[in-house]
Amino acid sequence: MAGESGARLTVGAGLTVGVLALQGDVREHVAALRALGARAVPVRRTSELDAVSGLVLPGGESSVIDKLLRRFELRDPLRARIADGLPVYGTCAGLILLADRLVDGIAGQQTLGGLDVTVRRNAFGGQNESFETALDVPALGAPPVPATFIRAPAVVEAGAGVDVLAALPDGRIVAVEQGPLLGTAFHPEVDGELRFHARFLERVRAAA
Ligand code: GLN
Repeated sequence: MAGESGARLTVGAGLTVGVLALQGDVREHVAALRALGARAVPVRRTSELDAVSGLVLPGGESSVIDKLLRRFELRDPLRARIADGLPVYGTCAGLILLADRLVDGIAGQQTLGGLDVTVRRNAFGGQNESFETALDVPALGAPPVPATFIRAPAVVEAGAGVDVLAALPDGRIVAVEQGPLLGTAFHPEVDGELRFHARFLERVRAAA
């Protein structure tokens, strides 16, 4: 797996973490977390949320996940856990869900919030809707991260307390961190890139 050398494969040992499993690329995240030694479980109900000490919000379609969060009555419990310091890693649609402010959502679309950022949904229009690039992420060291963008959002404004982990050459911010919350506009889990998941698991361990 790419990124294996830079990610400790036992960083998740003894940790139980969840992947929100209402819609999206749940399986890939579960596999990445298990590859790092964590016990990774799908989360669809509050009893399952209560049992995890960290949560991944997968890529998918943020407006659908938003609706399902409300239908499954997970939205309020999850917001409460985030306010309480739950480590969360959101990729793509998951980053949208973590953003305090959303541009170009569908009518009525809500986010969970937590990250003091404004995110633009589907920020890469036209032929650039999906693309891959090698992304420099200084906080993760060498080598660059293989980054796959699929109808991806971009962070268009970040508050003073937000650490920008990566930006594209044109300046668009695509990876951010604020305390226990981590968000990437791309999908490390589809490239076997484990360093972001390892970083998330370190946060989970620190919070436990
Ligand atoms: N465009 C999607 C959305 O609005 C995100 C795409 C993805 O997660 N790959 O949620």
